[in-house]
Amino acid sequence: MASIDTTDIDVIVVGAGNAACASAASAVENGSKVLMIETAPEDARGGNSAFTGGAFRFSYNNVDDLISLCPSLVDEDLDNIDFGTYTHEQYYDDIFRMTQYRADGDMCEILVTNSYDSAKWMTSHGVELIPATGRQAFKVDGKFRFWGGLALRINGGGEQLVLNWHEQMKKLGVKVIYECTAIGLIHSEGTGVRGVRVRYQGEEHELKAKSVILACGSFESNAEMRARYLGPGWDLAKVRGTAYNNGAGLNMALDLGAMPYGHFSGAHAVAWDLNAPPYGDITIGDQFQKHNVPFSVVVNANGERFRDEGEDFHSYVYARYGGEILQQPGMYAFQIFDAKVQHLLRSEYRCRFLTKYSADTIEELAEKMEGVNAANVVKTVKEFNEACRTDIPFDPNVHDGRCTEGLSLNKSNWANPIDEPPFDAYAVTAGVTFTFGGVKVSGQTEVERSDGSVIKGLFAAGEMVGGLYFHGYASGTGLMAGATFGRIAGRQAAIHAGTSN
Ligand SMILES: Cc1cc2nc3c(=O)[nH]c(=O)nc-3n(C[C@H](O)[C@H](O)[C@H](O)COP(=O)(O)OP(=O)(O)OC[C@H]3O[C@@H](n4cnc5c(N)ncnc54)[C@H](O)[C@@H]3O)c2cc1C
Repeated sequence: MASIDTTDIDVIVVGAGNAACASAASAVENGSKVLMIETAPEDARGGNSAFTGGAFRFSYNNVDDLISLCPSLVDEDLDNIDFGTYTHEQYYDDIFRMTQYRADGDMCEILVTNSYDSAKWMTSHGVELIPATGRQAFKVDGKFRFWGGLALRINGGGEQLVLNWHEQMKKLGVKVIYECTAIGLIHSEGTGVRGVRVRYQGEEHELKAKSVILACGSFESNAEMRARYLGPGWDLAKVRGTAYNNGAGLNMALDLGAMPYGHFSGAHAVAWDLNAPPYGDITIGDQFQKHNVPFSVVVNANGERFRDEGEDFHSYVYARYGGEILQQPGMYAFQIFDAKVQHLLRSEYRCRFLTKYSADTIEELAEKMEGVNAANVVKTVKEFNEACRTDIPFDPNVHDGRCTEGLSLNKSNWANPIDEPPFDAYAVTAGVTFTFGGVKVSGQTEVERSDGSVIKGLFAAGEMVGGLYFHGYASGTGLMAGATFGRIAGRQAAIHAGTSN
């Protein structure tokens, strides 16, 4: 019988993604011996963190703050890059606007006020940050201008992040056991949580420790839980990332009386290639996503528009595109572009795996688009083109106010007539990223019961914590939340284990 040695282990971390690794690193920094358990095999480790594009949202006041995180910035043509600022206030504004003022204020304060320091701490653990030009700033008149607060991103995206974190785990002496699935918590009223029950190599084991940190993701990979919490149709959504986030951590904590917290019927879901596989493919990463809605006209199977494509920069609305597509007939839609905006499209529009139709006229394009009312597409585009206020200059870096007028559903910004061939249409459906509901934690990341008491010895971080996301999401927050709350969880778990003050 295979056995797992837990002698001297102070803290067990469940999961092996960004939040788990941040928790483990911090627990070690606070004197603990840490064991990490991961349900996936080693080559699929790291959950959703491994699938990320590496967007990383933190506040900064000036370019010097950025140089301190990314020293190579001094070699850039800084006269022609306007990084602007991203103050605490701007960060708060974005979160509260996105979440319709529902985000937990205490959690936001922890996230925002620690974000720069968390980024710095990540760089001390070998994470390399580089400018996010191209994705978050367009070149207009020879100058890049950042519009969404995401100045730097993690070099190499999620794959490199997870590789990097696991090199750190080795250096820090954190033992990682793969294909080891947490199935329950060892708990008694007197002592609190004292370990984890796992399934490993076909048998159940009890792994004892003084503190446990759950950092094992949300329930987005579990079709039954998606249907149960998000509603009808969500079981049919594609999953953008890992197949291993099945809500196990959430269920284990709820079984002990943890308080469900946050937007349980909400999820982050984007426009995602219609023919993408059911779960993420790490060799493709996030390239099935199709985020450039603001430069497109989007139609459903009836050939009708259903959203204001120019509502906001994609970073602030892309997390809602998926849910909206799920509501459309057949649960799919098409993004239509013309040649004028080709140079603005992100790399994902040049990915090798695309459900894409191209033609030199809109009539021809509409005939090619599978499963659409072609006559209506032609009518919709014609009406849209006629409604564009082309007298207002187009500028992709600002809310340019170049809108349509007179349509029953207008486009608010970036409205260009679709009139310059070739024309392209991309078929998309909903790709769910993660779910918003989770457990309630204290400011010290202790898992709380509904009566406000804490479950002694149990901490949580990352996607499985509720309270930060409602309705929408500002991109780059997931990794920052995992780093910030993971770091706190590691410290607090170590304090609970008696290895730190
Ligand atoms: C395609 C894609 C792109 C994204 N891009 C970005 C981005 O650019 N920037 C950003 O900030 N966010 C991005 N996100 C969101 C981001 O991935 C998450 O917010 C963040 O990575 C969550 O980290 P986590 O550690 O909480 O969860 P995860 O990284 O998902 O880790 C959960 C871990 O728990 C393990 N696990 C699950 N159940 C068990 C169990 N029972 N026992 C043991 N282990 C278990 C999983 O295998 C996994 O290792 C993206 C997500 C996707 C899918």
